[in-house]
Amino acid sequence: NDVLRLEAVGKTYGKGGPAPVEVLRGLDLTVARGEVVALVAPSGAGKSTLLHIAGLLDTPDAGRVILNGRDMTGLPDKPRTEARRRELGFVYQFHHLLPEFSAAENIVLPQLANGISQRDAAARAADLLGRVGLSHRADHRPAQLSGGEQQRVAFCRALANAPSLLLADEPTGNLDPETSDRVFDMLMALVRDTGLSALIATHNHGLAARMDRVIGLNAVA
Ligand code: ADP
Ligand code: ADP
Repeated sequence: NDVLRLEAVGKTYGKGGPAPVEVLRGLDLTVARGEVVALVAPSGAGKSTLLHIAGLLDTPDAGRVILNGRDMTGLPDKPRTEARRRELGFVYQFHHLLPEFSAAENIVLPQLANGISQRDAAARAADLLGRVGLSHRADHRPAQLSGGEQQRVAFCRALANAPSLLLADEPTGNLDPETSDRVFDMLMALVRDTGLSALIATHNHGLAARMDRVIGLNAVA
């Protein structure tokens, strides 16, 4: 019962050109339902490439990407975008919240895009903000929030549409170590409370050790 399965995934940039760059070769990776997996990779090893492939934003040139039992590999853009919207949540090092909208609105908008009613979307936003201790910041804009608060809102936004898999790239990498630790705890609690599965890239071995399993990614020789 795997949420995500990468089978023998390969990726080469500039294939057939004068200077191809082979980034992934024969990569197998699974995330089981409810599992939180750390992805630890030195810079340049292909972490972003892997997350883009898992996030259906890029396609491998070998192997298969299976999301919730469905082979996504050869599918056209439309079902891939649809699956991305419904089944995946994304968190980055920087929050990428919409500056002109409040914290709550930033969590409501992706739900409206998925056909959820304003009322249900607002209730879910309030619930999520409560879980990360930010009920009192619901009506504030991102610029009025601290870095740690902004990231916590970004976590809520990622979970807004109740995805089955969270993909995170250095989700606390922009925060000072103490804040990073605290905010990471909240992310883990949020993931556990909602039964979410996650693949979380981090350079921080301390954070990686708190996840269920660690996968190391090395540059292709
Ligand atoms: P990481 O996120 O681990 O730093 P990336 O996945 O961004 O690594 O990149 C892995 C390797 O692939 C790097 O050597 C990078 O220069 C190369 N690369 C990434 N994207 C492209 C691209 N669009 N074209 C050519 N090379 C690329
Ligand atoms: P649309 O713009 O119609 O929403 P997209 O394919 O651009 O369609 O986005 C679908 C989902 O994929 C969104 O939830 C968005 O957050 C996510 N997404 C889009 N582009 C990226 C990207 N470069 N990196 C990570 N997530 C992305």
